[in-house]
Amino acid sequence: MTNKAELEEFRATVKTWLHANFPTSLAGKTTTTEGDTNLGEDLVTWRDRLAGQGWGAPTWPKEYGGAGLTHPEAKVINDEMLKINAFNPIPNMAIMGVTMVGPTILEYGTDDQKQRHLPGIASGKVRWCLGLSEPNAGSDLASLTTKAKKDGDCFVINGQKIWTSSADISHWCGALVRTDSSAKKRDGISFLMLTMDQPGVTTKPIPLIAGASPFCETFFTEAKADSGDLLGNLNEGWSVVKRLLQHERQSQTVAGRPSKSAPLQDLAKEYVGTDDNGALADPDLRLRLADHLMDADAHRLTIKRITAEAKGKVEVSAAASILKNSATKVAQTKVELKLEFMGNQGLGWEGDNFTEGELSNVREWLAGKAISIYGGSFEVQNNIISKNILGLPETTQQG
Ligand SMILES: Cc1cc2nc3c(=O)[nH]c(=O)nc-3n(C[C@H](O)[C@H](O)[C@H](O)COP(=O)(O)OP(=O)(O)OC[C@H]3O[C@@H](n4cnc5c(N)ncnc54)[C@H](O)[C@@H]3O)c2cc1C
Repeated sequence: MTNKAELEEFRATVKTWLHANFPTSLAGKTTTTEGDTNLGEDLVTWRDRLAGQGWGAPTWPKEYGGAGLTHPEAKVINDEMLKINAFNPIPNMAIMGVTMVGPTILEYGTDDQKQRHLPGIASGKVRWCLGLSEPNAGSDLASLTTKAKKDGDCFVINGQKIWTSSADISHWCGALVRTDSSAKKRDGISFLMLTMDQPGVTTKPIPLIAGASPFCETFFTEAKADSGDLLGNLNEGWSVVKRLLQHERQSQTVAGRPSKSAPLQDLAKEYVGTDDNGALADPDLRLRLADHLMDADAHRLTIKRITAEAKGKVEVSAAASILKNSATKVAQTKVELKLEFMGNQGLGWEGDNFTEGELSNVREWLAGKAISIYGGSFEVQNNIISKNILGLPETTQQG
């Protein structure tokens, strides 16, 4: 349904449903990826009601837990949620499930894999992590050395992954493993799905500068993956993971969460003050702030244009690398500017002398350093842009 009148009719249905079903106690809250026990009764109710509608992953087919909606319809749900300060918690609860693993299973999975895995992800009850990076294979992912050997009905996996986000609380892992050591490095790799709750898998959280530790070292010692959980063909995991990483970048193109707080320029005036004309008192900061606001707008409009050009389908393409890098720049500049105009107030870690906004900004600033690293670093995205979009010669990465 993309016709304007039909969409408006759908909007009215969505509005009515949200008013009847969204627990107002959750208005303005954000979601957590902690275990079910920490979710609270209202969040569990809200998750289950949304999943019942298929609105956790609204564009997925109904038989796999979605609602079979078009992207414009899914956008209507999102817009109406924003208006009442509601949110869809399911993508966060499924961790890598809704945004990355699910779309890749939809494309490469067998019917059996779709039926076994997708409804659990769309319900927000089954959490997924991704075991791609290794201590000596990050940007150069194809150098990975974790091995999997076929043994009867399963693969036996040995090796180590690193920076595995939420591995310690995930039920399943999508892992990239070497299944043919004699082939060229990108040709001997496969994508396996395995349970985390088995004796051969151990995880060790890595402490982070911003406080919470959402990621781990993950060790596979004779870990097992059912042979029915090979995603795509044997030794063709590189194509699967390239697609998965495009989905990851696509999910990282929004520069920060939508916020109902005061516009950045108003906040800046509160801290720095204004001149006789009512403009921000510091002319240098004013220039840089205006520059950032224009970048943020250009980024937002570019996403809109690419989405419109894809006729609402939100194509996953090399453009995701451009958007990931511009989202990174916009998000990091925003918190840095805030930190600057807050002055000493922007550097508090705890205590009554600081507002909630000041304390959260310093954490956002520290955590935001990671945006230019995860999902493929800023520099590596520039390499992809130069090769796949601008058609420039091959970079230093060979193999
Ligand atoms: C918060 C966070 C969450 C993450 N979650 C996950 C996860 O869930 N699962 C997972 O598998 N991984 C995860 N990662 C890992 C992430 O994908 C890697 O950190 C990233 O790919 C970079 O790899 P590396 O850390 O080994 O850095 P390296 O590859 O060692 O790179 C170091 C530096 O060299 C630069 N560099 C490297 N190669 C080139 C090149 N060819 N050209 C120009 N510059 C280059 C990089 O840009 C970087 O600045 C996460 C990382 C972070 C920070």
